[in-house]
Amino acid sequence: MNTTLHHDSHTRYRGKTAVITGGTIGMGLATAQALLAGGARVILTGRNPTNLEAARRALGPQAQAQVLASDAASLADIDALAATARETLGHVDLLHVNAGIATLEPFEQVTEAGYDRAFAINTKGAFFTVQKLAPLMKPGASIVFTSSIADEGGMHGMGVYSATKAALRSFASGFAAELVGRGIRVNVVSPGFIDTPTLGVADATPAERAEFVRLGDQITPMRRHGSAEEVARAVLFLAFDATFTTGARLTVDGGLGQNLSPAHE
Ligand code: NAP
Repeated sequence: MNTTLHHDSHTRYRGKTAVITGGTIGMGLATAQALLAGGARVILTGRNPTNLEAARRALGPQAQAQVLASDAASLADIDALAATARETLGHVDLLHVNAGIATLEPFEQVTEAGYDRAFAINTKGAFFTVQKLAPLMKPGASIVFTSSIADEGGMHGMGVYSATKAALRSFASGFAAELVGRGIRVNVVSPGFIDTPTLGVADATPAERAEFVRLGDQITPMRRHGSAEEVARAVLFLAFDATFTTGARLTVDGGLGQNLSPAHE
């Protein structure tokens, strides 16, 4: 299957600027690559030094790309990110709040530290990223959050993660209401099982990850994982094409969250 990103030209995003949190691997990186291929200038963030270095290598010495170490859980880092964006981009056309972590833990095993970390990155960090970067956004700009299909319903071992993303989705609605008068659209992409280096579960053991892959292919009506590029296309659609859409949630999940009943094999 061809999941390559197609664009009208190499100039599709020329003059556009984007900040992508959690852009060093996976879907954030795919979105950054598509934007850069279309001529945009992009700042992307991450925290793990190995991933930061790999992203710098993957993007090459492009003047339009900046890979920044910035912890989504640190308000000081978010302030520094906003200052860098102001200095080097001037304004922000797309703020893609994508950084997130997930752990697979039955509720009995959840620790206070793990609970706080998940909410600090996925929810609090997302909120303050918008608060600090919104002043750089002009009418016509947009914000896209990466939530998850797990932002509604219940899934074994994902209680805390689901709650962080449900809160994130709620924040997106609030921001959409507060920013609509300034001409800024705010939308959410909710991926299902996506084939990224971590599958979104960075701390999983290889055995847990293999089981997670098996489960995803089994319960997804399309019987496969999505690709990072498929999510990137949805993000870019919401960001630049969906000009009459705000406060919306777009699922990219192979039908997983749609209550479909495919024929049994
Ligand atoms: P991922 O492994 O979940 O990591 C996403 C990015 O977040 C990485 O660039 C990572 O960078 C960054 N990140 C993690 N903690 C951070 C922190 N404290 N500060 C700054 N950056 C941080 O990759 P992914 O699978 O592409 O997931 C992207 C988003 O989609 C996440 O929000 C995830 O929850 C969500 N999601 C994923 C799936 C899936 O199946 N893959 C499904 C639904 C939703 P470093 O490693 O360098 O810190």
